[in-house]
Amino acid sequence: MRKLLFQSLFRLPLTEPAPPPDDAALREVAIATGHAARRRLGRSLSIREVDAGSCNGCELEIHALGNAYYDVERFGLRFVASPRHADVLMVTGPVTKNMREALLRTYDATPNPKWVVAVGDCARDGGCFAGSYAIVGGVAEVIPVDLHISGCPPAPLAMLRGLLALLERVDSAAVAP
Ligand code: SF4
Repeated sequence: MRKLLFQSLFRLPLTEPAPPPDDAALREVAIATGHAARRRLGRSLSIREVDAGSCNGCELEIHALGNAYYDVERFGLRFVASPRHADVLMVTGPVTKNMREALLRTYDATPNPKWVVAVGDCARDGGCFAGSYAIVGGVAEVIPVDLHISGCPPAPLAMLRGLLALLERVDSAAVAP
């Protein structure tokens, strides 16, 4: 015990260094996403996160969007507690058999127009859980998916870029003759 205590005084922290600040890129993408939401919806974008069976790695990155560094609410993107208030469902993980019904009900409870974003490699095709007896497969096996953001887990900035691409796509589809 004394040895451990002594070592802890001199050993460097084992945690990874924080990523370099990329404020300019964050501001640019988040502001563009907020503007695209207002153009398309006339208001802020409301997101409901659904964990369909993930390992929680993707959730940690999604939660980071709301922390003091990313703080995406200042750009008009907010996470809501009910699918009835949501425009976008961000779904993580492979869909487990136990979560299949809950995901379907969440989708049905979300008012139109709605978009589904599958977040992470597991949400695409089951990822590292593919073939498990406990899962149905990727999110698209259960509900229609509009966008997939790959990564294990994807970084918060990649999620923002994905949301922006989705909004720009639906925006241009809406104005197309
Ligand atoms: S993509 Fe990676 S981090 Fe996300 S749920 Fe799957 S294993 Fe976890």
